[in-house]
Amino acid sequence: MTTEGPKDTMPVCEVANPFEEIQKHIDNICRRMNVSEGINARLQQCERELIVHFPVKMDDGTIKIFTGYRVEHSDTRGPAKGGIRYHPDVNLDETRALAAWMTLKCAVVNLPYGGAKGSVACNPKVMSQGELERLTRRYTTEISVFIGPERDIPAPDVGTNPQIMAWIMDTYSMHKGYSVLGVVTGKPIGLGGSRGRLEATGRGCVICTQLVSKHLGISLDGATVAVHGLGNVGGAAAKLLAKEGCKIIAVSDSTGGIYNSKGLDIDAVLRHKKETRSVVGFKDSEAITYPELLGLDCDVLVPAALEGVICAANADSIKAKVIIEGANGPTTPDADATLCENGKFVVPDILANAGGVVVSYFEWVQGLQSFFWSEEEVNSRLTGVMDNAFHEVLEISQREKVNMRDAAYMLAIQRLAYAMTTRGIFP
Ligand code: NAD
Repeated sequence: MTTEGPKDTMPVCEVANPFEEIQKHIDNICRRMNVSEGINARLQQCERELIVHFPVKMDDGTIKIFTGYRVEHSDTRGPAKGGIRYHPDVNLDETRALAAWMTLKCAVVNLPYGGAKGSVACNPKVMSQGELERLTRRYTTEISVFIGPERDIPAPDVGTNPQIMAWIMDTYSMHKGYSVLGVVTGKPIGLGGSRGRLEATGRGCVICTQLVSKHLGISLDGATVAVHGLGNVGGAAAKLLAKEGCKIIAVSDSTGGIYNSKGLDIDAVLRHKKETRSVVGFKDSEAITYPELLGLDCDVLVPAALEGVICAANADSIKAKVIIEGANGPTTPDADATLCENGKFVVPDILANAGGVVVSYFEWVQGLQSFFWSEEEVNSRLTGVMDNAFHEVLEISQREKVNMRDAAYMLAIQRLAYAMTTRGIFP
């Protein structure tokens, strides 16, 4: 896919079809684990796929047709769960890939969920609030044959936020005739959202960084960090890593990158981004290109933007010792092999960014019980889940002599295969 951003500063990435790459990966792991052909075949396909083309009245009075998707990869372990992405480049295969990653991710952290994903091809950055609201309400109605608190529960992803989740909840509730809090997670706190959800994915990345630093014996105090993609995930990760004593030396967004070898004041960068909608031009910084940022000599690199950013063309230039995949699919399979050969410690996306779905699960549970927890309780339970999952994956990685990504796939596939076998096939 093409990622947004200044094209002359993008890494030269040839990104293959991400869904086909996942299918190959699942196949390899199933064969290694002697998983039956039937289960292997089931895991390689999405269970349900919906494509919708729908009209939205724009502010200038014209009618524009948008294309959206909702894909459920699996609901074997529980309701399908996965975010909704608003981005001009989305397509069916990307949505399938993101849905499959959700199935694997929920299994790695042992949540009673399957995986799904939704997307609409649009550019939310150039749409008014009114246009976004009308698009969201119509898209929700179009996919309402799939979603519901017991069957398929959306959440925010790239280009969507708590306000959009509130519109989804309201639209679904209007059709039902009563308020349904559990239909979506990532809602505003005043509307059934969970404390800690907004920062949860970034916090999960930080918990993983702490666990890796303990495992490898690297102190986080003064450790240098580069964050590619200072959005919801990257912004929270950067802020919390700075609180842990890390020096955030570079960050980027879709408009460009900034660098300061002495460390950036992340709170000030986030304020600057809020005011100007860009990190570029922050006073105590110099400009840096994406390839330069990704290749910085630092302790930790957090790719937190989109897929395929670390690819064959730039994998060899990565100098960071630890890579925490905040984004879904930021590393292509050939790049992954290079990172492994070069001795990098990669915490794969399906583990590193699972904090978001973990707290989404907590939000869903709190909504179903109408009983809400304190932020301390949410964060402490999140730490427990991430800690368990990290150590389970590390144990498999050491026992089976595989990297953390393969180990995470093995853990997920073992749990999915068990659920499929135990449920059996209907009829
Ligand atoms: P977001 O829209 O809040 O942030 C994305 C950031 O990446 C933005 O700052 C954007 O400017 C930047 N960006 C886009 N294109 C870029 C490019 N070419 N180079 C550099 N920066 C670029 O989205 P998000 O919710 O933070 O999601 C980011 C990634 O994390 C996605 O892969 C998403 O699927 C994954 N993820 C998100 C969540 C969540 O809870 N939001 C959970 C799990 C995984």
